[in-house]
Amino acid sequence: MVLVFLDPAFPDGRPADASQPQLLVTDQGATRGDGIFETMLAVGGAVRKIQAHLDRLAGSAEALDLAIPGEEEWRRAITAAVSAHRSQHPPASAADDELVVKLVVTRGVEGASTPTSWVQVSPAGAAGRRQRETGIDVILLDRGYDSDVAERAPWLLLGAKTLSYAVNMAALRYARKQGADDVIFTSSDGRVLEGPTSTVLMAHVETSDGGTSVKRLITPQLDSGILPGTSQGALFAAAKAAGWELGYGPLEPQDLLDADAVWLISSVRMLAPVNRIDGTEIGTPSVKKELTAELNELFAGIQ
Ligand code: PLP
Repeated sequence: MVLVFLDPAFPDGRPADASQPQLLVTDQGATRGDGIFETMLAVGGAVRKIQAHLDRLAGSAEALDLAIPGEEEWRRAITAAVSAHRSQHPPASAADDELVVKLVVTRGVEGASTPTSWVQVSPAGAAGRRQRETGIDVILLDRGYDSDVAERAPWLLLGAKTLSYAVNMAALRYARKQGADDVIFTSSDGRVLEGPTSTVLMAHVETSDGGTSVKRLITPQLDSGILPGTSQGALFAAAKAAGWELGYGPLEPQDLLDADAVWLISSVRMLAPVNRIDGTEIGTPSVKKELTAELNELFAGIQ
């Protein structure tokens, strides 16, 4: 792993040894999970959707009243970290050239007024790539909040990407104990929300009597207390340009069961087709395969 801290004394960031301790034990990221992060994918050394991630990081910072480094500082540190990783660990092949680039900001050490900010770069694991190809089995889990809570209780920080992911990770472990790969959270009022690390997408294909077909791509409505996905946003723009119709919930579990295809989408794993939800097969294999191939191609074209 390559690590670069953002530090006003170092214009391109301060490289640090990721195998050595780097944080103080009083850092509020460690003591309270108080901070924010972004996870991005670099392909061939280029970070995909970098502006969308920087914009979301700024939105998360605002929600937490965190004064974080400016966009240019992040861009310089990201460039330095990605190129250091590529020169220290040259990719074995073009197909292997995927790096996970994580931006992290904590509220800093107790009593200090500056946050702790860093970029870390590591190789993308094979697990995500495998799930893109094989698809995943998912279970529905109740998140315990209703779909209006984000607006009513902004201190819950539901639309921000905070470091407090213990609940999300617990949900994934729970799913794995049940023999599933992933989770789709539902609200206490029965709406489909998101995955612990992904956005839910579904598609319908309607063929008219004349034989023309309309493809519709649908995601849960963004104001239901979910994280706005940069992948969903970018894919929707590309799908619209390619003639798809778009829809934004509200969705209920039955809508997913009736869909022609369902995916979980995120920056690193990209589109993971959902094979089963709570044991029920989703869509028809041939339609799913065709839609997945088409969306994969659109998504791969995004910078
Ligand atoms: N929703 C949650 C809760 C996430 O943690 C993530 C990503 O990690 C996403 C959605 C997908 O976001 P993106 O497409 O920007 O990776």
